[in-house]
Amino acid sequence: MNLYLPNSAQFHWVEGQLFCDAVPLKLLANKYGTPLYVYSYTAIQSAVDSYKSALKDTEHLLCYAMKANSNLAVVQIMAHLGTGFDIVSGGELARVIAAGGDPKKVIYSGVGKTVEEIEQALNADILCFNVESAQELERIIQIAKRMGRLARISFRVNPDVDPHTHPYISTGLKQNKFGVAYEEAVRLYLHAAEFPEAVKITGMDCHIGSQITTIEPFVDACKKMLDLADILKTKGIFLDHLDFGGGLGINYEEGDHAPSPSELVSALHAVMQERDYGDLTMVFEAGRSIIGNAGVLLTEVEYLKVGEEKNFCIVDAGMNDMIRPALYQSWMQVVPVTPREGEETVYDIVGPVCETGDWIGKDRSLNVEQGDFLAVLSAGAYGMTMSSHYNTRVKPPEIMVRGDHYQVIRERESMPKLFSSEVMLSKEF
Ligand SMILES: *Cc1c(COP(=O)(O)O)cnc(C)c1O
Repeated sequence: MNLYLPNSAQFHWVEGQLFCDAVPLKLLANKYGTPLYVYSYTAIQSAVDSYKSALKDTEHLLCYAMKANSNLAVVQIMAHLGTGFDIVSGGELARVIAAGGDPKKVIYSGVGKTVEEIEQALNADILCFNVESAQELERIIQIAKRMGRLARISFRVNPDVDPHTHPYISTGLKQNKFGVAYEEAVRLYLHAAEFPEAVKITGMDCHIGSQITTIEPFVDACKKMLDLADILKTKGIFLDHLDFGGGLGINYEEGDHAPSPSELVSALHAVMQERDYGDLTMVFEAGRSIIGNAGVLLTEVEYLKVGEEKNFCIVDAGMNDMIRPALYQSWMQVVPVTPREGEETVYDIVGPVCETGDWIGKDRSLNVEQGDFLAVLSAGAYGMTMSSHYNTRVKPPEIMVRGDHYQVIRERESMPKLFSSEVMLSKEF
């Protein structure tokens, strides 16, 4: 059995049992049932701290990319730690405000901002819109004029850099829908500069993908942004900030060596200094690298099915609870919460959902029995936020652990509530 722990500081073995901080995960699984998400406050804090200490000598804003995990308690922790937020919808802005975050530290990304969402963001006086198309710029100008507000903007440029990650999470290639074309960017900046009563240009942004495990693509993207900044300077347009997006990878598997925030920051800042942009504010939109290794998904073995070609370990967490393996063929570490000594069997770990794609891990050597608990590690990011009700399954609860105490931060959904907004046809229909 491979018992590798990607975040052994907070998820660790104590006398043969997996703990989160000082709390045995078996206790939580028994008390709250499975599937169950468990997060470590300490892990979140230490991930934020590693960005903060990497950035301490530069002007900076660390924004938490909320789509990674937007539970109100998580947002509340980030607000408490003083981060800003990278949002991609009006719903996420509402969460920032509900959890006590500062809208003036909000950066708004996304290709499809609606009129209502832009109005909502202008009313909240957010820090900056990352504009992703010429038509979005026109829409923002119109709305800002109508509302008598000034919209701070940056363009998300598409640097055509290959981040060498899964195609579904590459976002900075020419064929991707994100950002404005590199060749078009200068023209758009010049156009925006014609409307000083409606928009104020403050920066430039790029976000090239997610789970990026080398520094080079970030450095390449930075250089391409600075090339544009050089041209803008000659036209009298000066930037206040450079936003490098998110995308820093984490360790999922034994042998993974994701770069640290300090490696990323120092490589980028060196380029900025070399090119005489050392004074610009560095903005990051980090999601996975803050919350990914701060969470696990606990699940129970329902059945072991031994077949001719394959053995299946059928668990109670499905692709509706954790879709990463199904969607991206992601490899996630799975360990028993209380590992057993003895002979192992090779299983595909699969969920209860009626889809062949409903799997969590393939060809895993395990010694498990019906009723055992398994922990799916590195499940803090893009787990709960991508969950669905497919197969009419309720969403799992979430628990926050800090040291030796813990609290429910989302209750398990109840069955009648699940379809309470649906309406049966009337007799007259
Ligand atoms: C998803 C996303 C992020 C966060 O990416 P991570 O890989 O989780 O750090 C940041 N910025 C934008 C625009 C995004 O879409």
